[in-house]
Amino acid sequence: MKPARGPSRRRADGRLRLAVLSRNKKLYSTRRLVEAAKQRGHAVKVLDTLRCQLVLARDAPRVFYRGAEVGRIDVVIPRIGASITGYGLSVVNQFDMMGVPTLNNSVPIARSRDKLRALQLLSRFGIDIPRTVMCRYREEVPLAVEQVGGLPCIMKLIQGTQGVGVLLASTMTEVEGMLDTLWHLGQEILIQELIAESRGKDVRALVIGDRVVAAMRRTAREGEFRSNIHRGGEGQAIELPPAYAEAAVKAARVIGLEVAGVDMLESKEGPKIMEVNSSPGFEGLEQVTGQDIAGLYVEHAVELARAHAAGWSKA
Ligand code: ADP
Ligand code: GLU
Repeated sequence: MKPARGPSRRRADGRLRLAVLSRNKKLYSTRRLVEAAKQRGHAVKVLDTLRCQLVLARDAPRVFYRGAEVGRIDVVIPRIGASITGYGLSVVNQFDMMGVPTLNNSVPIARSRDKLRALQLLSRFGIDIPRTVMCRYREEVPLAVEQVGGLPCIMKLIQGTQGVGVLLASTMTEVEGMLDTLWHLGQEILIQELIAESRGKDVRALVIGDRVVAAMRRTAREGEFRSNIHRGGEGQAIELPPAYAEAAVKAARVIGLEVAGVDMLESKEGPKIMEVNSSPGFEGLEQVTGQDIAGLYVEHAVELARAHAAGWSKA
């Protein structure tokens, strides 16, 4: 760690060194982040998260990449896919230990990956969510279903993503059948209130820093209740009503994320937060809004790096 040299050199030409943690540099959001960083005159490299070797020793946390030690990095942008959450969090945390700011940090990423943990925090801090129950015994299922307002109801895998672990159950037999199967596979399941009035639709708001920079409504294809783009849903740019923007920003704050893709349902009572994504893809949002989201993302990373460097030189 050479904090004294780094910041002074940074001030000289304003050019920063960014690293994007991503398994694949060809992924849309990764490519766009690289492009946006270069356009703004910064040096940027993509580090394959699983190829980061973490070296731990007293006072000397280091990262090696493809055989060589990673040199000075001013800010890390993690793009951690759900399938490598564990290793990814360790890499992010290693950079944190090295004093490199990360957008986002490992603890908030971990919170967002566990749907129950995230919902526990959100509801605890007064954010509205669909009523949700976790239980583990068959005889408790009728009470659980009653708690979420009866049938039909939604069931979710705690670690599902892109709509894969989300089911709609219309009868008690279906609920019990699905629970038996999933419990048998060792999965924890959430039973959730179906927000019927927003069936087949949801809102994605992208929060960067303390504001929503873009939002879209996603509509499921016919015959499908899940509106994920990966499930064939279609996006449309929208101007968010203030209550929705406030809820999204507050949700990101509560989880502790600097950058977050907040998914909300439009209920009769207003926004209900379903999920907060810590590595939000923005291909759909850039397409439907025509905004340079990668640019905003990079500019926020740069701000974070500069604030961090300023704090350091003062210390
Ligand atoms: P994933 O993390 O896998 O994307 P989500 O929790 O976001 O899972 O759910 C996927 C989709 O299913 C949502 O985008 C929404 O369209 C629908 N959905 C999820 N939960 C509810 C609910 N409680 N009520 C109505 N629709 C829901
Ligand atoms: N990983 C994507 C995201 O967080 C999922 C988007 C989707 O399927 O709707 O933006």
